[in-house]
Amino acid sequence: MRPIVLSAVLALLPFAASAETVTAFPPKPAAPVQAMAPQSPAAPKRAGAGPKLVEPHLNVARSGIAARPRVALTFDACMGQADERILQVLVQERIPATIFVTARWLRTNPQAVAVFLQNLDLFDIENHGQNHVPAVDTPTLIYGIAAAGSPEAVRQEVAGGAEAMLAAGFSQPRWFRGSTAKYDASAIHQIRAMGYRIAGYSVNGDGGSLLGAEATERRIASARDGDVVIAHINQPTHAAGEGVARALLALKRRGVEFVRLSEAAGIGDDDTTR
Ligand SMILES: [Zn+2]
Repeated sequence: MRPIVLSAVLALLPFAASAETVTAFPPKPAAPVQAMAPQSPAAPKRAGAGPKLVEPHLNVARSGIAARPRVALTFDACMGQADERILQVLVQERIPATIFVTARWLRTNPQAVAVFLQNLDLFDIENHGQNHVPAVDTPTLIYGIAAAGSPEAVRQEVAGGAEAMLAAGFSQPRWFRGSTAKYDASAIHQIRAMGYRIAGYSVNGDGGSLLGAEATERRIASARDGDVVIAHINQPTHAAGEGVARALLALKRRGVEFVRLSEAAGIGDDDTTR
C-alpha cells in the first residue's frame, strides 16, 4: 500500500519521480532525496521535535595486512525484488556477504531465498525487520516512512522479522538492522536486550540504491581495511546495482578478505554492539 501512495506523491515531483518511485529509502515528499550520510550520523530533521536519532557506525577488526584488507559486505533486502546482477556475482565468485532481509521481502522472493539457503557457507542472513518500519519507539517520520512509534511496535518489527526468517528455513538471527538504519537510544537498548547486535556501517555504498553505477562502483571499490559496506540487493532496475556488481569484482582483484558479520568482531558506536 505504501509504495502506491508514495508513487502518487512522487509523481507530483517532476524532477525526482523516475529515480525515486521504487527507492528503498523513500525520500521526504517535499524535499530532494537525501542519501544516507555516514558523515552526519545524528542530525535530527527537526530541532526540538521528535526523538533524537542516531545512525550508528560499524567497523570490523582490521586485518592490518595492506595486500589483504578486510571488508564486510552487507546488503539490505528491504522489499520488492532480488537484484540478480549482485546475487550472481556473489555466488559465482564465492564472495561471502551478510544479507539483511525483511519478512516482506522473504514472502515475495522464493527463488532468491532458495539461492541463499543453498549457499549458507557464503551468506549470513540477518534480520531487517518484519515490515520495514524504522526501529524508533516514538512517532516520527524518517524519509517519509512512519517509525514503529512505540516499544511494542519496535518489538514486533524485530520479532516478526526473526519469525519469518525461521519459517523460511534460516537460523535465529544475531544481528538487526532497522529500516533507514536510524534509531533512537531507547530502541537500541531494547533491541540489544532482545539478544541482537545492531548493524551500522562505515561505507554507504549505493546511497540507498539511488547513486549511479559509476559512483556506486567507486565508493564500494575504495573500501578500506575494516570497513562495513552497506548496499541494496532489492532494486534490480536501479543503475546502482550494476556498480555494486562491478565493485565486487574489483575488490576481489585487490585481494580483499571478505568477512560476514557473524564471523567478524564488529565494533559499533552508540552502544550497538557492546
Ligand atoms: Zn531497508
